Amino acid sequence: MKSVSFFDYLGEVDEIESQLHAAIFGVIRSGHLILGPEVERFERALSDRMGGGHGVGVASGTDALLVTLLAWGIGPGDEVITVPNTATPTANAIQRTGAAPVFCDIDPATALIDVARVDALLTPRTRAVIPVHLYGNVVDVPALRRALDAAGRQDVRILEDCAQALGAALGSAPVGSMGDAAAFSFYPTKNLGAYGDGGFCFTRDAELAETLRQVRRYGFSERDYAVRQGVNSRLDELQAAILNVKLPHLERDLAARRRITALYDRELPEHCERFVVTPGSQHGWHLYVIQVDDRERVRAELIQLGIQTGVHYPHPIHLMPGFAPADGSAPPSLPHGERAARRVLSLPLHPRLEDAEVRLVCEAVRRVLPPPAAS
Ligand SMILES: *Cc1c(COP(=O)(O)O)cnc(C)c1O
Repeated sequence: MKSVSFFDYLGEVDEIESQLHAAIFGVIRSGHLILGPEVERFERALSDRMGGGHGVGVASGTDALLVTLLAWGIGPGDEVITVPNTATPTANAIQRTGAAPVFCDIDPATALIDVARVDALLTPRTRAVIPVHLYGNVVDVPALRRALDAAGRQDVRILEDCAQALGAALGSAPVGSMGDAAAFSFYPTKNLGAYGDGGFCFTRDAELAETLRQVRRYGFSERDYAVRQGVNSRLDELQAAILNVKLPHLERDLAARRRITALYDRELPEHCERFVVTPGSQHGWHLYVIQVDDRERVRAELIQLGIQTGVHYPHPIHLMPGFAPADGSAPPSLPHGERAARRVLSLPLHPRLEDAEVRLVCEAVRRVLPPPAAS
């Protein structure tokens, strides 16, 4: 039986192997192993792709969130609003600063933060909101800004979690350019993946960028002189060299993701439930997610048919013991986020997936999905 894998990067390695060798040994032999020219070149190249601004390479997507929150001076006693259905690291980053994550329910149609619910969660301690462009679907960040402004909260900052959305845009605005700052991840499965960990802070604010550079390097303003609370979180020079080899292929990979998801859109049975794409946006298509009632059965039957799937994510963050409210109070009830966690199922999606494989997946889904409910 032919099987379809969820993620595969080795085909890409075959194609760029000689460039990778040159890039990796170029770094090793250069004598410049930490925050060297490869990191600088990558920061410039990705910032240019964002239409200009400042990029700061850090060790992971989680750290890109953490370093930005620390640069804003967010810590104990503060609150940061985000969603319950994101990758756990969004909340880990908030927690690591000492601030409390506050969870806002999602719009069930899009799986994104329900901007209309943010107002009720604002308190004098609220310092920031982290909207997550989940699966690559774009949050209407300008609408979030308007909601905060309407509540008289110009002081609350917006940090876009773009870990799943590199390549997505709202109108002509790339994700990451609409908020006060943004965080990207180069975890291997992401739209631009390193061969290890990597992350990126982005902002158009030159002063904030300088602070981000200080925070990632022990709080130093100059060598051996700390002016603020800092960490050690640098984009590794080897990973930057690898990313510089891969970045020129990003547009082609994004086009492949769009071609594959357009085929899913057409070939999956009509009653297969999907999320609404934000109007006026270019979706980043990191994941192609459907919703099913009896997910574990569907997953098991798809595996029998040779189809690997994923779940992003099975546990709503506000109900995990690691995120229980510090004051011992009961976690909030967030019915839309909780329902999504029970029902979401991610189909195979990576730039090298062939049309024939997509058709196999669609055929398998057709076989295991319950028939449409009679209306
Ligand atoms: C992957 C991811 C992160 C964390 O990135 P790492 O590089 O794994 O630390 C944060 N937020 C979201 C939404 C993610 O998908």
